[in-house]
Amino acid sequence: MKSNQQKNKLGCFVKMLPPNYLLSSLDEALSYDANCFMFYTGSPQSSYRVPINNLKIREFKIALNDAKININDLAIHCPYIMNLANDDIAKRNWAKNLLLNEIKRADAIGINFIVLHPGNNKNKLLGCKYIANAINEINKNNSNVVICLETMAGKGNEIGANFIEIKSIIDLIRDKSKIGVCLDTCHLNDSGIDISNPHKVLTDFDKIIGLNYLKLIHINDSLNTVGAKKDRHANVGKGTIGLENLKKWIHNPILISIPKFLETPYVNNKSIYKEEIKLLLTK
Ligand code: FE
Ligand code: FE
Ligand code: ZN
Repeated sequence: MKSNQQKNKLGCFVKMLPPNYLLSSLDEALSYDANCFMFYTGSPQSSYRVPINNLKIREFKIALNDAKININDLAIHCPYIMNLANDDIAKRNWAKNLLLNEIKRADAIGINFIVLHPGNNKNKLLGCKYIANAINEINKNNSNVVICLETMAGKGNEIGANFIEIKSIIDLIRDKSKIGVCLDTCHLNDSGIDISNPHKVLTDFDKIIGLNYLKLIHINDSLNTVGAKKDRHANVGKGTIGLENLKKWIHNPILISIPKFLETPYVNNKSIYKEEIKLLLTK
């Protein structure tokens, strides 16, 4: 690769396991030839978190540097049990505290991006208000971390299954420097957007939200057809989106410098990210 050529940022979801925590995440990413990655800072189904001091942050930063991976290309995914749009104020506050705790962890590690499933509420407008209010509160104690709203498939009462809902949350956020968007190709497909033409999707995104808010992308194939509102990820080339369409997203000039993470299923209890990354990078 020529040095003046930009490196395509492609990686995947990785685990963070004891005893080496962040170092194990990096090792896993490197084993797949990923140059960026995303992880949970604990179980996605629970609020229990190991103390920050156990994570090996200092050693991690040195190892990242040695591996020539930029810490700005990493992201933390919020636990998915939280719902900032819950009608129950106690549950909303619980979710808010959980997000704030994740932000503190991201900040301690030096990670800039947190991916958040916006939330669930039958009343979308009210849900968007709850979410924005919670984020505004949190941002009083958040100096660095960009909260990236993930576009959702539209399962049940999910908020954020179209660009207009994402935009209406962003409109209500006071500090625009700490809000962003994470696209997910499976979710876009399942929400009813034909993603075979990234140029068109990105043009719509720019018109409605603004490309400056696009910070991260999840790359997944989908088990379901456009508009199925299901959210079931498939391996690259094994779903309805297909390898060629996913490659268009990887190699789109606007997206080269945006961290892209695979969240595809394991095959026989093993991830196949290494093969999938290689496949997607082949032009
Ligand atoms: Fe997600
Ligand atoms: Fe995703
Ligand atoms: Zn999903």
